[in-house]
Amino acid sequence: MAEIRRVPEYCYQCVAGPDLFKVVVKDGVAVGIEPNCDFAGIHPANGRVCVKAYGLIQKTYNPYRIKRPMRRTNPRKGKHEDPGWVEISWDEALDLIAEKLREVRQKGLVDEEGYPRLAVTVGSGGISPAYMGALPAFFFAAWGPIDFGIGSGQGVKCYHSEHLYGEFWHRAFIVVPDTPRCKYVLSFGNNTDAGGGVLGVWRHAEARVNNHLRRVQFEPHLSVTAAHAEWVPIRPKTDAAVLFAMIHVVLHEHDWQHVCDIPFLKQMTNSPYLVGPNGYFMRDPKTRKPLMWDAREGRPRPFDDGVEEPALTGTYHVRGVEVGPDEIIWEHEEAECRPAFQVLMDHVAPYTPEWAQEISDVPAETIRRVTREFLENACVGETIEIEGGRRTRTVLWRSFWARRSPTAGAATSVVGPAPCWPRWWARWRCPAARSVPPCASTGRDPTVRSACAPAPTGSWTSP
Ligand code: SF4
Repeated sequence: MAEIRRVPEYCYQCVAGPDLFKVVVKDGVAVGIEPNCDFAGIHPANGRVCVKAYGLIQKTYNPYRIKRPMRRTNPRKGKHEDPGWVEISWDEALDLIAEKLREVRQKGLVDEEGYPRLAVTVGSGGISPAYMGALPAFFFAAWGPIDFGIGSGQGVKCYHSEHLYGEFWHRAFIVVPDTPRCKYVLSFGNNTDAGGGVLGVWRHAEARVNNHLRRVQFEPHLSVTAAHAEWVPIRPKTDAAVLFAMIHVVLHEHDWQHVCDIPFLKQMTNSPYLVGPNGYFMRDPKTRKPLMWDAREGRPRPFDDGVEEPALTGTYHVRGVEVGPDEIIWEHEEAECRPAFQVLMDHVAPYTPEWAQEISDVPAETIRRVTREFLENACVGETIEIEGGRRTRTVLWRSFWARRSPTAGAATSVVGPAPCWPRWWARWRCPAARSVPPCASTGRDPTVRSACAPAPTGSWTSP
């Protein structure tokens, strides 16, 4: 009689997890996966996993899986070089790594240039345990400075848009969208109903039924998500053009003072910071603090000087310095400056829905209508109480708005928590934040180009 056990486990193959299940073990061999119904009513997905988790059995018994540490014996690299991998014991592997770590410590954790001597890659940034597990939390944190760049974005901190928005702007990750309370979702190609994980699909379905959630899906093809939404066909890789047009509609076709979250923009973002002629913040010559224009007193003041009425619009003549890359300094006795919000307004002025229609195939009227709906549902200035704390109602969530399009951040920022800063043009041409190119005209940071970029002509160049 075969012995059958059901072992509780969890899947964390993607960041939608962890999700719960039981492994069916027959005579010591894993033969199947079942929901863990012990967690029905506790786990949001009632102890179920998505279809991907069912492949874990094959993964476990893959005859080609790595079973022991491997050491490369051929130092030469190249397409036709055999790396010469050989199996070694765990003791050998740990001794080898410890010896190298000791060498680094003896030399110093950073080199003469101030860069970390230790670079680490954990193989995959997309698998949560790789960057949320004990290794980074305890060992890497205890070590000191480490270069994670080798993994191209993986590691505890990468340049993924969500991390930029979440960490630097909101001081929190917002990887868990508040779908059940959501009223309106604009999605640019995020195929939630296929790849959102068991919880994502469930939460969206609940929201559609219980909260009358409305979804608008911009996507070249009719995905399963688009089938449950208003599908707006769009030419591939032109999402940013539509988003720019939406910002244009918000700022130039609506009364921005009425539809934007003005107190938020003034007090919680860098929208009032003055931008100098080179595209950098104008700073106080002594303290180097960014300056704002105090509309009440009619003079520039540092951002943290208790300015109650910072100007969001206008042009001002100000004495100060701009600090560029590599400590390039521009000293100005008097220079024409505009608040970052004004720079954004000027910047998006040419990006009309008609301009975007030419590029994206999305009708101008659709862009206007969707923008209007977005504003109607943006709950500008509203707050909501969650577990005793008040929160703003509209947030940017990476996969809907901003996964690879910082333009989306600027679009949502005007109605809620995300700042405006007109450096998006350069990235629009190259939307992945981590691949920002240097400014072609000046060889400097793309910020320079963003502030002085010529008006678009309607042509479209795919990177
Ligand atoms: S969504 Fe699927 S693959 Fe991702 S953690 Fe959950 S069960 Fe695993």
